[in-house]
Amino acid sequence: MSEPLEPGQTIGILGGGQLGRMLAMAAARLGFHVHIYEPGANPPAGEVAQKTYTADYDDQAALTAFADGVDVVTYEFENVPAEALDLIEAQAPIRPNRRALAVSQDRLDEKRFLNEIGLATAPFAPVDPAAVDAAAQLAQAMASVGVPAIMKTRRLGYDGKGQARVMDVHGGGAALETMAKADAILEGFVDFDREISVIAARGAGGRIACFEPGENVHTNGILHTTRVPAAIDRATRERAFGVAGTILAALDYIGVIGVELFVKGDDLIVNEIAPRVHNSGHWTEAGTVVDQFEQHIRAIVGWPLVDPVRHSDVEMTNLIGDDLAQVPDIREETGARLHLYGKAEARAGRKMGHVTRILGPAGDR
Ligand code: AMP
Repeated sequence: MSEPLEPGQTIGILGGGQLGRMLAMAAARLGFHVHIYEPGANPPAGEVAQKTYTADYDDQAALTAFADGVDVVTYEFENVPAEALDLIEAQAPIRPNRRALAVSQDRLDEKRFLNEIGLATAPFAPVDPAAVDAAAQLAQAMASVGVPAIMKTRRLGYDGKGQARVMDVHGGGAALETMAKADAILEGFVDFDREISVIAARGAGGRIACFEPGENVHTNGILHTTRVPAAIDRATRERAFGVAGTILAALDYIGVIGVELFVKGDDLIVNEIAPRVHNSGHWTEAGTVVDQFEQHIRAIVGWPLVDPVRHSDVEMTNLIGDDLAQVPDIREETGARLHLYGKAEARAGRKMGHVTRILGPAGDR
């Protein structure tokens, strides 16, 4: 795909959750059709898309039909199986590219990649809980990364799932059990001052545009609030942009990326990269002249990026599980923008919506 897409052409999105839903709305605003591919029934994105394929990622006929009907494919989550991507890629370009997906699908590969391009991560060591010498591997990992530490599954973890803290040298056994034999890494605990993220985009021509870093507060491993601007100085902000730019260029990336960083003194430590629009970028809709969803669509269809000039200070709060009970009050608040994802069941820990509040005109830090 070398020419930009035109309105009326079709974008395929793998995954039908809230990120897919907001991407589909942005795409529709620019005149594109959207097809969703999602194994689960009644996905949030299906309500706002032209067509939804409800099929598993090993359903070759459905994957082929989906890819056949679209002009470019993007995704709202990174754990799409490689075989499904092979099938799709034979018919339609995938943006961001396969390398970005592969790197972010596996925490060990991700950390090695980041270190290779000169970026700092928490110290880490692989551990295979299914190996006969798992206990010895763990002891070696603890000796190399130190304690306290966090054990995380290499694949399929999100929102703090598949993680266990190891508070001292005796805590490793229980953490190994939590991994349920899945390949893992042990990560040294970073005693950070704050957590920030940079939502950045790279266009088809290689231009990079970064949104203002947001400051994130997590509760039980799940993002609770993002506040913009983050309480960091100008030099740290510039370095955070530099980190995002380095990653985007190294991956020859097209689209929006979320880069989660720990700030510790003058150091920036990369926690995680997400090759997609990101929960900590939802504030962009209320705080800048372009939001992360439109920016992503523009990048993947080959349109120029918009300068993400920020006009307001903003706080975004996730509505998780029972937080839905706050909706009647929030909708009475004239200064609050409410998003509900249309999910039928409000399970504990499930992201049901979010609310964005403008705090005032864009202030200086
Ligand atoms: P993750 O799923 O890796 O993004 O982790 C979820 C949250 O757990 C992060 O946003 C941090 O608040 C915390 N966390 C993860 N890894 C570490 C670490 N190595 N040191 C300190 N806190 C961490």
